[in-house]
Parts: sequence; C-alpha cells; structure tokens
Amino acid sequence: MVTIKSKSEIEKMKIAGRVTYGALKAVEAAVKPGVTTAELDKVAEKYIHSQGCKASFKGYGGFPATICASVNDEIIHGFPGPRVLKEGDIICVDVGAIYKGYNGDAARTFGVGKISDEAQRLIDVTKQSFFEGLNFVKEGYRIHDISAAIQRYVEKNGYSVLRGYCGHGVGAEMHEDPEIPNYVTPTRGIRLKAGMCVAVEPMVCQFDYHTYVADNDWTVITKDGGLTAHYENSILVTNGEPYLLTLPKEEAEV
Ligand code: MG
Repeated sequence: MVTIKSKSEIEKMKIAGRVTYGALKAVEAAVKPGVTTAELDKVAEKYIHSQGCKASFKGYGGFPATICASVNDEIIHGFPGPRVLKEGDIICVDVGAIYKGYNGDAARTFGVGKISDEAQRLIDVTKQSFFEGLNFVKEGYRIHDISAAIQRYVEKNGYSVLRGYCGHGVGAEMHEDPEIPNYVTPTRGIRLKAGMCVAVEPMVCQFDYHTYVADNDWTVITKDGGLTAHYENSILVTNGEPYLLTLPKEEAEV
C-alpha cells in the first residue's frame, strides 16, 4: 500500500532526512586513504545518535551495521569492517536515520584520495541520472517515467543499471510501496500524488550489470569486477517541485 503522509509525519520525515544527510557529510569528511570502513560506520552511528535519532539499517533484516559500505566492484549492502581504504578506491555509502518512527534513506559514492577520471565520470553520471529521474517525481507522473529517465541517461553514457534492486517508498518503514526500478519494466506503475515519500536510487555499473551475492549473504558484487556507483535521496512528492528530504536545496542546483 502506498501511503500519503500527514503534515506531522512530513515534519518528522524532514528531520530524519536532515540527519541522514548530516551522517553522509560526516562520513564524507572522514573518507581518506588509510581509514577502515568500520571507522566510517562509527562516524555515522555517532552522528545519528548525537542528533537524537536511531540508525535504521542496524538490525534491519539482520544487517549488522549503521552504514552499507560497498567498495569498488561492491555495489550495495557491503559490511563495514577491517578493510582499509586506499588511494583511488571508490566507496558507496548508504545510510538511514529514524526520527520518532520515521525514516530517512540516502546514499552517495565517494572517491578516496585521487581517483581515476573514469571513476569520477561513473560517479558523476550516476548522480546526474538521479536528477534526470527527479524531473518526474511530481504529482501525475508514473513510476515508469522515473525509471525510463534514469535508464536512458545511464545507457546513453555507456554504463548499465543494476537489475533486481530498486528504489522504494519510504516512511514509517524504510522500504514501503511503490517499488521504483532504475530500468523500464512491463508495468507502468502508480501515478504519484502529493504527500507520497519515495527514495530514488540509481545503482550503476561501469560495464555489465550482472552480479553475485558474497558469502555474507548480503553484499552485491559485479561479476566482471567493474566499478559501481550509487546515489540516493528520499523525496517528498508535492504538487510542484519535488522536496528533497536528504539534500539541502542549494546542493540540488546542479
Ligand atoms: Mg534505499
């Protein structure tokens, strides 16, 4: 069921979103060669708790940490741990905060030190594909419109979108209806209405989109070893321009 949020729910979503954004900023500031992904996890957890929120991923379906930390060919659901980041790596960080029962959910991909032009281009195309999709996160458009815009932009730039993992509604649950694929499916999906909250999250592969799941039963990795990038924001649908819950307006003007 797709929920329409009340005014008071939206106020809580805005706070959860701001804290989720802040957690990503805190992690970004800590990303450098020599840091471990477990240390980045601590940074995010400490920040979320300092803001009176809970980390939504920890314990979700058994997930063991505050952030998903997915390095290079790992695209989503990486476990933070003793892995040491090195110059030239790229890391996808996905995080969520809960404020009074409401979720924020967002992801970014960061370069570690100096990265290759190709890795930077992958990160940039992934981010821009989110904004291509965002043009259709407005009352009256269908899910299909968002999916098509993301896929078209990614493929036009020579990359592929991950299959089988999707954006989603967000609210009292981290994952609510509707599903928002980053690729066209045979269904057109629901029409968006003001008051819905959705997380749009392109997951992009440098080469082929086929993946496997690691022995930890979570981490999704490209079969061909190609790099991957992820970019996500939680969004409130309105009658007009979409309201980004996990990105300040100044930073959305690209
Ligand atoms: Mg998400």
